[in-house]
Amino acid sequence: MTPPRSKSILFDDAFYAYLVDHWVREPDLLRRLREETDAMPNAGMQIGPEQGQLMGLLVKLLGARRCLEVGVFTGYSSLAVALAMPSDGCIVACDVSDEYTSVARRYWAEAGVADRIALHLGPAVETLRTLLEQGQAGTYDFAFVDANKGDYDAYYEMGLKLLRPGGAMLIDNVFWHGRVLDEADQSDDVRAIRDLNAKVRADERVDLAVVPICDGVTLVRKR
Ligand code: CA
Repeated sequence: MTPPRSKSILFDDAFYAYLVDHWVREPDLLRRLREETDAMPNAGMQIGPEQGQLMGLLVKLLGARRCLEVGVFTGYSSLAVALAMPSDGCIVACDVSDEYTSVARRYWAEAGVADRIALHLGPAVETLRTLLEQGQAGTYDFAFVDANKGDYDAYYEMGLKLLRPGGAMLIDNVFWHGRVLDEADQSDDVRAIRDLNAKVRADERVDLAVVPICDGVTLVRKR
């Protein structure tokens, strides 16, 4: 087994190895997907196994049956969520890449969860708008936001509308490798994440917590 490498600015590889040894349970299929993805370009976009495990646990805690994923990549997070859901659960999964999601589809099929995942190829903002136009506001239990950082505010606002009260959203990469701290960094992605971090903290529509694993995750619960 390839030891997972730390994606965190907070944990060096030695502490990360301890974390993985003591808290991570990774099913074989997820391990294989992670290792295959690690050999691909943009492998850094893949979440860590501890984050997938957290997502699966949240899905079970919520009793989630309807999930939303904004940013699929090669499918690690959607597979972790699908494996945690009951057989009548469903995931609406948004991504723009046919190439990356072809890997995801192969693993969904192997896991026997392909029928639980509806993949929408295209800009997620359009897909979420369509879901809202179809009257699906307030019907989702869980959402994961991890696509274009510049669209994070739109994902957050539309995702919040789509969640039911008591539903939860995970927002990924909220540390952006520590760049949110550097006020000299005014690049579009950094500003989008920095602005959303400030907005969510003050947002009376949600309860929130930071989960400082991987590249930082914000967990919110819709009030
Ligand atoms: Ca991410």
